[in-house]
Amino acid sequence: STPAAVTSALARATRIGLLVKGGAALEAIGAVRTMAFDKTGTLTEGKPKLASLITVGDMAEDQLLGIAAALETVTSHPLAKAVVTAAQDKNLDLPVITDARTIAGAGVEARIDGILYRVGAAKRLDIDPTPEIADWLTAQEGAGSTAVVVLKDNVVIGALALRDVARADAKAALAKLKALGINPVMLTGDAMLVAKRMAGELGMEYHAQLLPEDKLNVLAELRNDPDRKGPIAMVGDGINDAPALKSADVGIAIGGGTDIALEAADAVVVKDRLSDVVNLVKLSRATRRVIR
Ligand code: ADP
Ligand code: MG
Repeated sequence: STPAAVTSALARATRIGLLVKGGAALEAIGAVRTMAFDKTGTLTEGKPKLASLITVGDMAEDQLLGIAAALETVTSHPLAKAVVTAAQDKNLDLPVITDARTIAGAGVEARIDGILYRVGAAKRLDIDPTPEIADWLTAQEGAGSTAVVVLKDNVVIGALALRDVARADAKAALAKLKALGINPVMLTGDAMLVAKRMAGELGMEYHAQLLPEDKLNVLAELRNDPDRKGPIAMVGDGINDAPALKSADVGIAIGGGTDIALEAADAVVVKDRLSDVVNLVKLSRATRRVIR
């Protein structure tokens, strides 16, 4: 039967917005020494904004933004919302699109007046940008923005830089986790330079340009690494990251407390505060000390 100390710890956790799925999950959290974090929406606020834009040839900036926004209306990806919001803020009339579809982990495509347009990551869309565009993409990524290209019939007509900032409490929370002997690792689908910059800012390891299935492979590698002791935790938003939350030894969903998060994770941090992940570890360790 569950020791009284565990039952009362679980109840206390719930009162402060930490939903833990049971005694075994509570104990496992305290033993974690490697904690993997999704970047977008977990380490960052997940609300990117349009930071910069470049066009090729005689294309006007608003025309490019209108085309990109029209395509992005078909998905709720955080980057898509940023593009649509930027167009709305300028009261742009969006062109009519047909045959729209999302390209998983890469972007979106659709037709305007029968011509195929795409918006998304240059690397994922398998295009070779001109040196001018390539330099611009590199500069934007070096500055920490996610840069996406806009294509008309496979020709680059412009690019957009979208900037998402780290959560205000991210750096302090990761420092506290490290003080508790936990090694934080960033897992992201975003570009190498963007990940490198933010990981440097936050003081953590990083793995970038990961497709959703790559995240599972990295988690398996972390688990099989003999230098890493204890269970591997994954912290994510619970919607995009459900498979990774499930596949980690300990899945921690941050924010929302949606049904999907509750189902996939071992613990849910209800308020999307990274400092609450630290509180979760501390509570678990305190409970382990009492029952051992
Ligand atoms: P993350 O793991 O950081 O949440 P995703 O797997 O969702 O990233 O996307 C990976 C990359 O694919 C993004 O960084 C972006 O370059 C591109 N991408 C995906 N969806 C879109 C979209 N709707 N619009 C533009 N770019 C996109
Ligand atoms: Mg994500």
